[in-house]
Amino acid sequence: MSGQPYDENNIFAKILRGEIPSHKVYEDDHTLAFMDVMPQAPGHLLVVPKAPSRNLLDADPAVLAKTIAIVQKLAQAAQEAFESDGVFVAQFNEAAAGQTVYHLHFHVIPRNEGEPLKPHSGKMEDGEVLRANAEKVKAAL
Ligand code: 5GP
Repeated sequence: MSGQPYDENNIFAKILRGEIPSHKVYEDDHTLAFMDVMPQAPGHLLVVPKAPSRNLLDADPAVLAKTIAIVQKLAQAAQEAFESDGVFVAQFNEAAAGQTVYHLHFHVIPRNEGEPLKPHSGKMEDGEVLRANAEKVKAAL
C-alpha cells in the first residue's frame, strides 16, 4: 500500500462520475480512456480503471490485469491512428515519481523518431484538436 488514502475528489474521479468533461475514446464496465488535456505528443491519452486506487501501489491485481489489456488495445489504436514509429506507455506512483493526479492511470503516447516529448503537465491543448485526435483513435479501435 502507498499509505495515503484515496481522495474521491481527484480530477479523474470527477471525470469518471461525469462531473467534468473529457474527450473519451474508449469505455467498458471497468475502464475509461480519454485524451490528456496537456499532451506530450499528438494522440497522448490516458487509460483509467473505474475502481478507485491512488496508483499501482494500492491497486487490486485483478483490476490491473483488466486495465493492462485495455492499455494494449489503446496503444495499438494510437499507433495506427497516428502512424507512429512507437508508443510510450508510462505510469507514475506518488509525487516523487512524477504523479500529479491520484487515481491510477496509464499514459499512452505515440512517439516518432527524432521528435522529443513535450513537458509533462505542460501546455493545455485546444479542445478542437483533442476532439479530432479522439476521433482518430476511436476510428482505429
Ligand atoms: P500524472 O502526472 O499524474 O501521471 O499525470 C496526470 C496527467 O493528467 C497529466 O498528463 C495531465 O496533463 C493530465 N490532466 C490533468 N488534469 C486533467 C484534466 O482535467 N483532464 C484531462 N483529460 N487530463 C488531465
